Amino acid sequence: MQATTQLIHSIPVDPLTGAISVPIYQTSTFVQDAPGVNKGYDYARSGNPTRATLESLLATLEGGEVGLAFSSGLAAIDAIAKLLKTGDEIIAVDDIYGGAYRLFTQVYQQFGIKINFVDTSDPANILDAITPQTKLIWLETPTNPTLKISDIEAIGKIAKAHNILFCVDNTFATPALQKPLLLGADIVVHSATKYLGGHSDLIAGAVVTKDKELGARIKFFQNACGNILGPFDSWLVIRGIETLHLRLRQHCTTALEIAQFLQTHPAVDKVYYPGLATHPNHAIAKKQSKGFGGIVTFSLKQDTVEAATGFATSTHLFKLAESLGGIKSLISHPATMTHKTIPADKRQSAGVVDSLLRLSIGLEEAEDLIEDLQAALDGVLAQSAKNLSTAAA
Ligand SMILES: *Cc1c(COP(=O)(O)O)cnc(C)c1O
Repeated sequence: MQATTQLIHSIPVDPLTGAISVPIYQTSTFVQDAPGVNKGYDYARSGNPTRATLESLLATLEGGEVGLAFSSGLAAIDAIAKLLKTGDEIIAVDDIYGGAYRLFTQVYQQFGIKINFVDTSDPANILDAITPQTKLIWLETPTNPTLKISDIEAIGKIAKAHNILFCVDNTFATPALQKPLLLGADIVVHSATKYLGGHSDLIAGAVVTKDKELGARIKFFQNACGNILGPFDSWLVIRGIETLHLRLRQHCTTALEIAQFLQTHPAVDKVYYPGLATHPNHAIAKKQSKGFGGIVTFSLKQDTVEAATGFATSTHLFKLAESLGGIKSLISHPATMTHKTIPADKRQSAGVVDSLLRLSIGLEEAEDLIEDLQAALDGVLAQSAKNLSTAAA
């Protein structure tokens, strides 16, 4: 049986009523027959049947042993960071998600945990940064927003050889395209807010571990710290996952068409999409993933904040918003939105130039999205011609 069929049918029919949809157990506590004698649940922070269905689905999806659902992606990342102790070091991907950067540098650094950022697209940089204190390697691939790809299998071998935990934030690729646990990672983390939820209607996080004992340690933090996902949001994520493979297939097809279109437009400078043969890490992307994802990033020849914001506010189908991975296409301008707190020189040397724009390709028809982009790009050209003639006059 194909994995997708198996996945859909791994969600159980309710044994009590035959309900084909998972019941939402909106309860805080569970009645006990005698002290400590219960039906598997006692208090809903420690365990809830709706959340438990999601958690076992997450484990199946990523090919791991233990799945855990959290109140946000950052809560999930936080639960993993709690595995560390004072004096430990993290090696992390240099263009890490901004919220993870803030958590590691402004929260965990004050507890004496050191963090070292390296360009992980060359695994040798990780090898160089390892010290006896290194306890965790933190990877995102593809990265945000320039979609750099790192070789999960090669980094997994380095981590194993040095006995270092290896965690991959799989939010951008999703398990429909890439399964880090099968390539040597110990932990996968998600912002389920994005593709797993898939409909831009909730905030949620997920952790999956390859190994039972490691999963139990993180589950301990989930219960001890209390940042669990509620039953209704758990149900929404289950519903999202039911169409994950279908959605990703469409996101990938449309994203490639859009990346190819952008390459042909005279207002566009660089196009970043791992599915393009011109992408510097195309070969690794092709080796380790089944598809290249739904995010396309590009810059304008007129590399100014004004040109980029002019473009981003003139599209109609692409809505200007942070986040990604939903049904509706979104556009964001990293230099003034997600990456605005990073100093300009540091931001630009990471490729996040003033005119860089990130598209989250939704599920609209490609031809409509291309028409929307075409009109907005023609507008950029018209505006720059106007600027030139005003300057000449
Ligand atoms: C959004 C995001 C997060 C944080 O998730 P929240 O659900 O917003 O807390 C972490 N990693 C990546 C790659 C993200 O895109």
